[in-house]
Amino acid sequence: MGVGVLIRESLEELERVTLSPHAQLSSQSKGRLREEEECDLRPAFQRDRDRIIHSKSFRRLKHKTQVFLSPTGDHYRTRLTHTLEVAQIARTISKALRLNEDLTEAIALGHDLGHTPFGHAGEEVLNQISPQGFSHPEQGLRVVDLLEREGKGLNLTYEVRDGIVKHSKGKGEVIPTNPSEKASTLEGQVVRIADIIAYVNHDLDDAIRAGVIDEQDIPPECSQILGQTHGERIDTMVKDVIYSTLCCHQQGKISLSMSQPVLEAVVRLRDFLYERVYDSEVVHGDFVKASKILIELYEKFTRDVDLFLREMDRDNLYDTIEVCACDYLAGMTDRYAFHLYERIYLPKPWLIL
Ligand code: MG
Repeated sequence: MGVGVLIRESLEELERVTLSPHAQLSSQSKGRLREEEECDLRPAFQRDRDRIIHSKSFRRLKHKTQVFLSPTGDHYRTRLTHTLEVAQIARTISKALRLNEDLTEAIALGHDLGHTPFGHAGEEVLNQISPQGFSHPEQGLRVVDLLEREGKGLNLTYEVRDGIVKHSKGKGEVIPTNPSEKASTLEGQVVRIADIIAYVNHDLDDAIRAGVIDEQDIPPECSQILGQTHGERIDTMVKDVIYSTLCCHQQGKISLSMSQPVLEAVVRLRDFLYERVYDSEVVHGDFVKASKILIELYEKFTRDVDLFLREMDRDNLYDTIEVCACDYLAGMTDRYAFHLYERIYLPKPWLIL
């Protein structure tokens, strides 16, 4: 046995000794899609986290919309910075509850890998046009299982895959009561709530920056409970999740919770964002224009398979043309979709020499 193996085993032992009995231990993972030898140095979830960071779809998050389309301002969030904020919030909660931080971070970093270009508008469009439907959590699973590494996938553990596919339900419950919607690990449940905490706060911040809303427009009942500033609001929500969860610790069971007043204030703030930001004319209007790009590219690809294969740089399709076109469009960044549309549909300007 090499020295390396001893390192991984000692890290696994450290988890057993230091983590809560409710944490998911790396050594007790249900395993990977395809069996693989363990890494000498890193426990399973740490390895998954690294695989996600090294993936191409992770790098593409940099140029995918969070709310504001291809923003030119340097301070607007993108899918990548959103993902990092989710990871930070989720790790803070996990660490305080003595859960597995590596697992939490791997799920958080991978949770939005299935996101389309142009934010939720892109998702809606693909759901309407593709015969098999579309949802970003399920697409996230396709990305890590099938699409990454030229069809080989990342071969992640069951717990990370489960956390990715169960991380979101749009306007659904903040803390799901339906067991089929709940991640099977507490770490996965932490990421779902961290996702909501991150986006309600940073979308509010970005919307104020963009002038779509004013600080004074925030419903006063939300500010009273959550705080007056961006930092205060995150702090209130994070602490509330940790303290409420520790209080609800009953008969050896633990379930992720929030207090009623904070939960209601978060839901109210999210409704306010839908009303005044996501569904507002200025944000939605841009999305309608962007949707046209995806619809026309999808039509072009499904009608002209040769052109599609050339674009994908492949000799043949790995599934039906509809499925392949949908995967390809979903993987694009905003700017790639813009450039491709321009190249396919718009005449090139003549250069004057
Ligand atoms: Mg997210």
